Amino acid sequence: MATVDLTNPIFTDPDAAREHFESIRWPDGTYCPYCGQTDTVKPLGGKSMGPGWYHCKDCRRKFTAQVGTIYERSHIPMTKWLLATHLMCASKKGISAHQLHRMLGLPYKTAWFMAHRIREGMRDLNPSPLGGEGKFVEADETYIGGKEKNKHARKRWHSGRGGIGKEIAFSLVERDGRVCSQHVPSVNTKTLRPILVAQIDNESMLVTDDAGQYRHMHRDFARHEAVNHGIGEYVRGDAHTNTVESYFAILKRGITGTYHHVSQQHLKRYLAEFDFRYNERTALEVTDAERAINAVRGVVGKRVTYKKPHGGSPLTQA
Ligand SMILES: [Zn+2]
Repeated sequence: MATVDLTNPIFTDPDAAREHFESIRWPDGTYCPYCGQTDTVKPLGGKSMGPGWYHCKDCRRKFTAQVGTIYERSHIPMTKWLLATHLMCASKKGISAHQLHRMLGLPYKTAWFMAHRIREGMRDLNPSPLGGEGKFVEADETYIGGKEKNKHARKRWHSGRGGIGKEIAFSLVERDGRVCSQHVPSVNTKTLRPILVAQIDNESMLVTDDAGQYRHMHRDFARHEAVNHGIGEYVRGDAHTNTVESYFAILKRGITGTYHHVSQQHLKRYLAEFDFRYNERTALEVTDAERAINAVRGVVGKRVTYKKPHGGSPLTQA
């Protein structure tokens, strides 16, 4: 699977790992994470505190590059964070916590917590809207978990919640561009329209199936094409949802093949992981190494999410 160069010293040498992280955390030079100053920051010299500690003369606080990131207060070595991130970035279908646990030589629970924190780093990296003038954006929803026969029935009914063990993912994909997925509580105009309006440039051409929840979308976008899957219509010129369907195929293969079961509480993090890999894909000329750097960069400023995750996630136990 992964083209991860395991001989890279950042995976074995603590100093190399720290320097690598510092260069991603502070591309324009070290600054104080508490007060934002640059001129008042000096390295502590590593005598008493160990290397990687800095002191800010302005606010008189000590810090490392991990302060203000998802890695803050973690006792896991940076070498392991980097290896876990590179492995997750390079494996197309994701990597299970069991596999990470074996490859990192860390307890299973630790590997599980790390994977979720790394997914947090992959969230919301590019908040700009999808599409634009002359661009197509496809939208569709899919059910994760539950029995296959119920899923199809559900899809036909267009009813509310997906039932026990079934969750709804709603994805928007710009053709030749990015994807943006969300875990939604129900499939109806009230839930989906605000997402469409917020995440897609209104100059775009929207393509969906002809389900009722998309009925009035032509009012919000330059054009709206609805494909009638009910009468076996799948492609009518530019009007098709093949791009978002292909994305769902990758997502489902990954979730059922690698993760087997994804709980309601954590689905948004798995969606973030699959969206991230799609948005940083090789077809867009992103290399495995660049993808991993972007994932590491995403951990900065997410400390709040880690300390106070939505819905009281057990990540706080880590
Ligand atoms: Zn300061």
